[in-house]
Amino acid sequence: MRIAEGVYSIGQSKGGHVHAYLFEHGDELTLVDTLFDTDAALVVEAIARIGRSPGDLKHIALTHAHRSHLGGLAQLKRLSGALVHAHEWEADIIAGERLAQPVSMRPSGPLATYPMRIGLAVGRPKHPPCPVDRGLAEGDQVGPLRVLHIPGHTPGSLAFHFEQRGVLVVGDAVASWPRVDAGWPGFNLNEGQYRESLKRLAQVEAEVVAVGHGEPLTEDAAERVHALAAA
Ligand SMILES: [Zn+2]
Ligand SMILES: [Zn+2]
Repeated sequence: MRIAEGVYSIGQSKGGHVHAYLFEHGDELTLVDTLFDTDAALVVEAIARIGRSPGDLKHIALTHAHRSHLGGLAQLKRLSGALVHAHEWEADIIAGERLAQPVSMRPSGPLATYPMRIGLAVGRPKHPPCPVDRGLAEGDQVGPLRVLHIPGHTPGSLAFHFEQRGVLVVGDAVASWPRVDAGWPGFNLNEGQYRESLKRLAQVEAEVVAVGHGEPLTEDAAERVHALAAA
């Protein structure tokens, strides 16, 4: 689904209605996150639908190293040879050398998110591992996207801003499934850092907020993020 000029949302119901985002810039494509499925078929289909081929994919950037967002990574790397980018803190999890840190099992938040919480606790299902080619930090650039370091959900969580098109990819800092919320309650490793990061995201005043779980916010997106940050 096209959400802005040259920006496409790709979603699936698995992995908590996880979404990935494809950016077209000149002859090249950049992808943020890789959905849940390990065959990457939905991403490959989305690339074909805009008349491109996997070889056009030059950069794959990851918001953070949670399973739902990593499923198609290894397969997409094989098909495209794209450079894989992530924050250093997440890199060894993505490479399969360390398990993601479990989140609190204290009951809170929507029941629909519990399977993902249990998955994190037991480290299952595993994603096909893939090495990270380049570590990202605040202010770096990936294709047309500027990197914001937004720790809290995980220490190496990143957001990606396509300023020209008013699109901000926020990973799990905001969710729109099962409801619009400041992420999934109970899923932040550091709540204090997370609140500061959410305030930063509100200051961007993006027209479109592309979330990790659920449909991107395309109406009153900046106002909604401000409201979540103020709550
Ligand atoms: Zn996450
Ligand atoms: Zn997630």
